[in-house]
Amino acid sequence: MTERSFVDRELADNLQRVEDTIQTACAEAGRDRSSVTLLAVTKTVEPERINQAIAWGIRQIGENRVQEYKAKQPFLHLEGVACHLIGHLQTNKVRQIIGQVDMIQSVDSIHLAQEISRRSAEAGIVTPILVEVNIGGEEAKSGVAPEALEELLAAAAPLPGLHVRGLMTVPPILPTEKEKRAVFSKMYQLFVDIRDKNIDNIDMLELSMGMSGDYREAILEGATIVRVGSAIFGRRQY
Ligand SMILES: *Cc1c(COP(=O)(O)O)cnc(C)c1O
Repeated sequence: MTERSFVDRELADNLQRVEDTIQTACAEAGRDRSSVTLLAVTKTVEPERINQAIAWGIRQIGENRVQEYKAKQPFLHLEGVACHLIGHLQTNKVRQIIGQVDMIQSVDSIHLAQEISRRSAEAGIVTPILVEVNIGGEEAKSGVAPEALEELLAAAAPLPGLHVRGLMTVPPILPTEKEKRAVFSKMYQLFVDIRDKNIDNIDMLELSMGMSGDYREAILEGATIVRVGSAIFGRRQY
């Protein structure tokens, strides 16, 4: 057996295991499987393995860095596959990514929203975005503070070339199921509160939360997109 087919079998097994976990969590939460999107996080993964995952049914991928994504993009089989930018985005990189991804999940300042708006309008397109919330209030993490979320949404709502479709978060790494669920539940409550305000031009359709270590708990608390990397592709080699 070649090294390649060994790795591919592992990838297929991982994908099956993640799918089983999603289905079990949906059943436990009384949710339809179709209400949760699996986004495969492909940072540091080489194009060949990303294409393999696509061949096995992955329809959404997420990349963190503009440079890395653009370098890999020509080698990816992206027909019918949506690409999301999920990593911190610097304003000076916006120009390079507009029109290249289906959604930007990591918008956490009005300055960044304005730049996405300006570049999208110039290109004659509307870029779907999620607003990233720093739900754990961690100092070193990106994301807008929950208290500042409404102000950012109010400023983003009238901007052309940009459509807010929901919220995203990377919560603190917590040890117990109870603590994980508590923080996701807090995020869900924020999502619902905003949704119920029916702000013009702001849609709360997607709640992107849950990674390899906690996507089950995120689904139990209402995630609509889970972003899973290492549980699919194995440990990242930087
Ligand atoms: C890397 C990353 C993920 C996936 O992390 P895993 O723990 O490997 O599943 C999800 N979301 C963001 C924003 C990431 O940077």
